Amino acid sequence: MIVFNLQCKDGHGFEAWFKDAAAYDGQRRARKVACPVCGDTKVAKMPTAPRIAKGVTKAAGKGPDTGEDGKARAAEFQRAMERLHRHVEENCDYVGDKFAEEARKIHYGEVKERGIYGQATSQEAKELSEEGVPFAAIPRRRHKDA
Ligand SMILES: [Zn+2]
Repeated sequence: MIVFNLQCKDGHGFEAWFKDAAAYDGQRRARKVACPVCGDTKVAKMPTAPRIAKGVTKAAGKGPDTGEDGKARAAEFQRAMERLHRHVEENCDYVGDKFAEEARKIHYGEVKERGIYGQATSQEAKELSEEGVPFAAIPRRRHKDA
């Protein structure tokens, strides 16, 4: 079985499966290949384009993130985390292990609202979320030379 990306004359794109290329030609000539949108049988093959949409690898039935693709995605994620950490460090006040205390003060309006970052224990994080204090947990930065 092969899949073709087809397009009707109105520009509707769709995919159709055929036993082989000859089967496609035969069915198209017999007007048996119709656009699922408008029913047009004047369809043509679209040029095969590389698929760049994310998640397609998995949808195609390949394994989880292994190999070059997975590594590239992991590196991309790592870079995004680096940017996030840098953004936080440049725009927020470091409050160390007073994070929970400071987050609460800001939440209850005891101090002026500002961005903060610091450490919280899992117990503190749990209490904050139970109180409805908004905060985001981001993975600790991994220092390569730590
Ligand atoms: Zn159509």
